[in-house]
Amino acid sequence: MNKLILKPGREKSLKRRHPWIFSGAVAKLHGEPGAGDTVEVRSAFGDFLALAAYSPRSQIVARVWTWEERAIDGAFFRERVALAVEERLAYLYEDVTDAVRLVHGESDGLPGVIADRYGDTVVLQLASAGAERWRDAIADAVLEASGASRVWERSDADVRELEGLPVKTGPLRGSREPTRIALNENALTFQVDLEHGHKTGFYLDQRENRRCVRELAAGRDVLDGFCYTGGFALNAMKGGARSVLAVDSSSAALALARGHAERNGLSGVEWIEGDVFQLLRKHRDEGRRFDMVVLDPPKFAPTVAHAAKAARAYKDINLLAFKLLRPGGLLVTFSCSGGVPADLFQKIIAGSALDADVDARIIERLGPGTDHPIALNFPEGDYLKGLVCRVAG
Ligand code: SAH
Repeated sequence: MNKLILKPGREKSLKRRHPWIFSGAVAKLHGEPGAGDTVEVRSAFGDFLALAAYSPRSQIVARVWTWEERAIDGAFFRERVALAVEERLAYLYEDVTDAVRLVHGESDGLPGVIADRYGDTVVLQLASAGAERWRDAIADAVLEASGASRVWERSDADVRELEGLPVKTGPLRGSREPTRIALNENALTFQVDLEHGHKTGFYLDQRENRRCVRELAAGRDVLDGFCYTGGFALNAMKGGARSVLAVDSSSAALALARGHAERNGLSGVEWIEGDVFQLLRKHRDEGRRFDMVVLDPPKFAPTVAHAAKAARAYKDINLLAFKLLRPGGLLVTFSCSGGVPADLFQKIIAGSALDADVDARIIERLGPGTDHPIALNFPEGDYLKGLVCRVAG
């Protein structure tokens, strides 16, 4: 068996069951494992710690599959995937949605594996050398556990580059058509574009937060920054917003968003293709005001190394948003940056309010839904955080 021997003291994070091994922690490699092959991880004193997938090109040189001495094979993936899928079934999402995250990477004990179910299709994203090595076993396991009829691959996340993996997309099991699937969530219907949609096609992690916006939107003039295919904007409209202005820089996303408005019979959203930073400034200067601003920007800080630059960007948009709010207005603001912890995000928002010279309080904290569990030993999984702040008045 191939072996990774750690430097003295570097077993500590593994003993706390953190599943990543950084290249700097490794003293010696025995054997010649290929990318994705299983290696035994041992401490400097020779104690067995874990079995992990080797990734020679990445700074995260290995990701743990198991803390036990057991075989890593098709049966292992069937077992892990089945556990994750069963848990999702137990939550009974049927009344709420027909789209659910089945496998959530490290937090389901499957580093680099994301599986989202949209109706009869599972979209699979493999983002680590180990996941890539076991593609077939994982695809079969997902198909079997979910009872879906096809698996579509969307292995085109940026992180694959860090792992030295090429982009792979398209049908993995079952037919190529259709490439667009209907998704029904809380009595709204959306189309998921399997080929070109972001991530696996839809932001399932915001499901409960879209609901929250719906519940708070009645009678308000709403601005939805970074609206993508209209998730928050249409929920605001459905919740009785007086008006909704929705902005995104992607024309493809806006084309879908307009279609969604029509399909759901929700007119009255003004869709704008543009840059949120500029648009917020423009409205500040022109004196246009809102009663609710939703900001759900892309990841400004994928890792801690980007945190300072990201903090400036979050500060900038949130400061402008506070300035656009009428008294009693709500800011619903998110960060999906793994590199920005919740306490830092809250400090940034506090700084934004201070500099905007508004008095605001947090009335709700938001996070991902129950189908996006966060393993306690894996803080990196705690990427999505949101705050609902109410401006005094
Ligand atoms: N709120 C959405 C998801 C937002 S994803 C939902 O729940 O479905 C982030 C979006 O920001 C993407 O659609 C991307 O096209 C857009 N975007 C990125 N940078 C932008 C910018 N500077 N101005 C406007 N939109 C931007």
